[in-house]
Amino acid sequence: MAHPPAEPAHPHPPVHDPEPTSQHSPQPLALWLIPVLRDNYVMVLQRGRRAAVVDPAVAEPVAAALEERGVELEAILHTHHHSDHIGGTPGLLRRWPQAAVVAAAEDRQRIPCQTLGVGDGDRIVVLDELVEVLAVPGHTSAHLAYWLPASGHLFCGDTLFVGGCGRLFEGTPEQMHASLQRLAALPEATRVWCAHEYTEANFRWALAEAPGDRAIAARLQEVCGLRAAGQATVPSSIGQERRTNLFLRAGSAAELARLRRSKDQW
Ligand code: ZN
Ligand code: FE
Repeated sequence: MAHPPAEPAHPHPPVHDPEPTSQHSPQPLALWLIPVLRDNYVMVLQRGRRAAVVDPAVAEPVAAALEERGVELEAILHTHHHSDHIGGTPGLLRRWPQAAVVAAAEDRQRIPCQTLGVGDGDRIVVLDELVEVLAVPGHTSAHLAYWLPASGHLFCGDTLFVGGCGRLFEGTPEQMHASLQRLAALPEATRVWCAHEYTEANFRWALAEAPGDRAIAARLQEVCGLRAAGQATVPSSIGQERRTNLFLRAGSAAELARLRRSKDQW
């Protein structure tokens, strides 16, 4: 009797033109964070024993956390090329050489390990979950965000922070304003997973910038409580950010530029 053909090692690699399959997948998608370095977060998506990570700054603590949970890494997603977002990828690939590496095709030079170059409007499947790619330039010229419409998650790297936004290293205020407005237009309940724990400083600055703003004052109190208890303030939600993030509330690129200068000097 002939044996059936061998199963490929990774039966669910990210692919273009996917059929959304999350509703057929028996195991729920779980998300969790690994705090690394001084204030970075590496986001982990897990479905059963399969995992994907977003922006692995370093390899060792990420590999250890995945191994502790007994999961296999299938994909690494990058939002942008800064070393505190891609530094762990070579080490993770040594441990899981089959893992797909998703990043901006435009940044192929600066994100060398990528196996799947993507750009604005691309749709891929990661762990049976549909992921939409959004170009959000401003912090860097080729910065991407990854949106999971079925489960309502957003990985926004250093573009949108809880109560803040990324510095304008390569983009204009116009670009950052457009990028943030695009994220602000996602559904209210979308969970916002950014790559740094900058929240408390962001809201201290925001309250100094907008004294008397009750929503911001309440938010500052809330995040101080979380931080004092050693808890992450990530994820936030798009609704929360629309109400309390001055950069999302900025009505124009000029207003955003003014706020960004103020925060840079704070
Ligand atoms: Zn960055
Ligand atoms: Fe960063």
